[in-house]
Amino acid sequence: MSWIILTLFVFLFIGAGIFYFCVFFDQAILTRRGTLYRVKTEKKKVALTFDDGPSPIWTSQILYELKKEGIKATFFMGGRHVKLYPEVARKVAEEGHEIENHGYAHNVLFYYRPEEIEEEIKYTEHIIEQVTGRTTKYFRPPKAWLRGSIKKKIKGMGYEVVLWSLNSKDWVTFDARRIVNVISKRVKSGDILLFHDSGGVLKAEGGDRSQTVATIPLLARELDKRGFEFVTVDQLIKGEGQ
Ligand SMILES: [Zn+2]
Repeated sequence: MSWIILTLFVFLFIGAGIFYFCVFFDQAILTRRGTLYRVKTEKKKVALTFDDGPSPIWTSQILYELKKEGIKATFFMGGRHVKLYPEVARKVAEEGHEIENHGYAHNVLFYYRPEEIEEEIKYTEHIIEQVTGRTTKYFRPPKAWLRGSIKKKIKGMGYEVVLWSLNSKDWVTFDARRIVNVISKRVKSGDILLFHDSGGVLKAEGGDRSQTVATIPLLARELDKRGFEFVTVDQLIKGEGQ
């Protein structure tokens, strides 16, 4: 009998650990070295970023909210999704948002060889250029996992690895008000904010991004009250924008 209780206890402990890791811990803290994850600036500017799209369901809803609030954001797109939904990717470009590179298949790249990473980035760059006419220069690795030696290789390709300083955790937080409260308490000038315009808890496609959509107007008003302006990642890095 006691071994059953012990097994249950172990499973409960592991489950609690996984829950904590997913909901509260931001793994990007472990891989930030050698990347650009926020910009040092006195100006009250922040960049909104959306990963994993384009999505035929969610991206246009996000574009609608961004347009209403007069915000230009940055979309780190997956090559596979650009190939599947080119008209959505084109709409993002037409509405004046920045488009950057999130790799092709949303695989964790931690154990990839340098030449495999190069192929992943170059192929995605090619698809994005073919579909939207945009060239990419910032790369965001899926789930932030990337080895130090590979970061040098990516820089050698003329890319900057861009992570984030504030994680909305929108993929595991199902309440827009909670997302806005957490961000409002922590936000600082030069922050790069992570959101998703596609995917759910276990995959990068589909999912329920309704709370991400609902967050945009709430966050826009809250940060506007505090004097913040939204710019694209490129504008934030170059000190440009509104
Ligand atoms: Zn991603």
